[in-house]
Amino acid sequence: MSDSPAGTSLYNSDTIIALATPSGIGAIGVIRLSGPDAISLVNEVFGGKDLSIQHSHTIHFGTIKDGKQVLDEVLVSIFIGPRSYTRENVVEISTHGSAFIIENIIKLLIRKGARPANPGEFTLRAFLNGQLDLSQAEAVADLIASNSQASHQVAMQQMRGGFSSELQHLRDQLIHFASMIELELDFGEEDVEFANRDDLKGLIYQIQRILHRLIQSFEQGNVMKNGVPVVIAGKPNVGKSTLLNALLNEERAIVSEIAGTTRDTVEDHMIIGGINFRFIDTAGIRDTEDIIEAKGVERTHAKIKEAKLIIYLVDPEQDVEEIVEQMKYIESLGIPFLTVVNKEDLLTAEFEQEVSGIRYQGSGGGDPDNRQQTADNILLISARNKTGIEELKSEILRKVNLHSINTDDVLVSNIRHLEALQKTEESLNRVLQNIDQPITSDFLASDIKQALYYLGEITGQVTTDDLLETIFSKFCIGK
Ligand code: GDP
Repeated sequence: MSDSPAGTSLYNSDTIIALATPSGIGAIGVIRLSGPDAISLVNEVFGGKDLSIQHSHTIHFGTIKDGKQVLDEVLVSIFIGPRSYTRENVVEISTHGSAFIIENIIKLLIRKGARPANPGEFTLRAFLNGQLDLSQAEAVADLIASNSQASHQVAMQQMRGGFSSELQHLRDQLIHFASMIELELDFGEEDVEFANRDDLKGLIYQIQRILHRLIQSFEQGNVMKNGVPVVIAGKPNVGKSTLLNALLNEERAIVSEIAGTTRDTVEDHMIIGGINFRFIDTAGIRDTEDIIEAKGVERTHAKIKEAKLIIYLVDPEQDVEEIVEQMKYIESLGIPFLTVVNKEDLLTAEFEQEVSGIRYQGSGGGDPDNRQQTADNILLISARNKTGIEELKSEILRKVNLHSINTDDVLVSNIRHLEALQKTEESLNRVLQNIDQPITSDFLASDIKQALYYLGEITGQVTTDDLLETIFSKFCIGK
C-alpha cells in the first residue's frame, strides 16, 4: 500500500478535519471533523454547552476559543456514529466565512490533535465503513460537480444505489453458480454436474442482456454527465461566432471543472432543456477555410468525430453545389447533423428554391435520422437578429434525443464502470463459448470468477489500494 501525501494509510481511524465549504470569503464556512475524538476535540475549545453529553443530530450555539481569545461565534452540529456520513462521530462547525477565522479554528483543532484530511477522505471513510458502495461514493463526486439537470439526475440516480443493487443481484446469482462448479472440481475425476449447464446459460444470457443495456447506456450517461459535444462547422463568415453568442446570451451555463476531465480546446457550455451542451470551438475548421479542407487536419477531424451533433452553418451567399458537397462529407461521418441557413434576412427566393431542391438528396450516412434531417426542412435562422433560435434549440434537443430518458433508467456515466462491465461481458462470453465444449470445469470456474471480480470492482467488493487512491484523490479536500 502506498502512503498518502500526509504519510498516513488509507485505513485510518484518527480524527480528521477540513473545510467543507469552498475556500475564500463566504457568508459562512463549514469546518467538518470526523473520527472518534471529533466531539471531544471540539468540546475542548467550545464555549457553551458540554458537547460530550448532547444527543446526535443536534445543533448548539457557542464560541470557539483559543485560550482566552474568542475566534468566532459558531453553530456546532453533532452527529454521533454510526448515524453520520462517515459512520464515525462527525462535528460540523458553522463559522463566519472569513478565511482568517476558518484558518485559525482549523489550526487550533489540529494543535488539539486533529489531522488535516486528505482529498476525499470523508467519503473514503463512508465507503470503508459501509455507508456507501464504491459507485455511490463516486456519484458523490459527480453530484458535487453536476452543473445541469441531466448531470444531476445521473449522479443522483447512481448515488441512490440503483446501479449497484442491479449489479449486486447479478453477482449473487453468479456466485451461486461459481460455488456449484467449484464443488464439481472437488469431485475431481468423477463425472458429476452440480451446476446445470442450461440454467447457467440462461443466467448468463440474462446477465448479458443487462450488461449490454448498461454498456449501451454509457454513451447517453456520459453526455448527460459531461455535456453533449456539438461542433458548429461552416465556412468563415457564415456567422458561427454570432450564432454561438446568440445561443450563449440567453443560457450561459455555470461551468464547473469536472475532476478527471482534460480539455485541450476552449469550449462554451450552455444548458438547453436541462441538458449541458458543449459547443466546441472549431477554430481549426475556420483556419483551414472550410470543412472539406479540414478533412486532412487530423485534430479538427478528431474533434468533429467526437461530436454528438454537427451544426453545419451556411449562408445565402454560398454556392449551393458547394453546400451539397459539404453536406455529403458530413453525412459520410455518420454523425447526426443539422444544416442551418443563417442570415435569413439576406435570403433570396432563388437561394431558397435551390436549397429546397437539396432536401431529398441525402443518403443518411448510415444514420436514419440524417435521412430524416435532409428530408426535413433545412432550418432558417438569423443569428444576428436572433430569429429562429428557439426552433434551432428544439431541433438540437430533438436531434440528440436525450429527452426520452426515463428518470428511473440506470445509466452508466463512469469510464471505470464501463471498462469493468466490458470485461465482465468478455469473461461471460468465454464461459458461453466453453460451456458446451468438453473442457474441465476449472476453465468455466476461472472465467466466472473473472466476471465476478470485474463486477465487484464496480461496487467495491473487490478493491485495491491503488484503485481507491486513484478514485478518492480526485475529490477535493473536505469531501
Ligand atoms: P464566423 O466567421 O462564421 O464565425 O462568422 P461571424 O459570426 O464572425 O459573422 C460574420 C459576419 O456575418 C459578421 O459581420 C456578422 O455580423 C454577420 N452576420 C451574422 N449573422 C448574421 C445574420 O443573421 N444576418 C446578417 N445579415 N449578417 C449576419
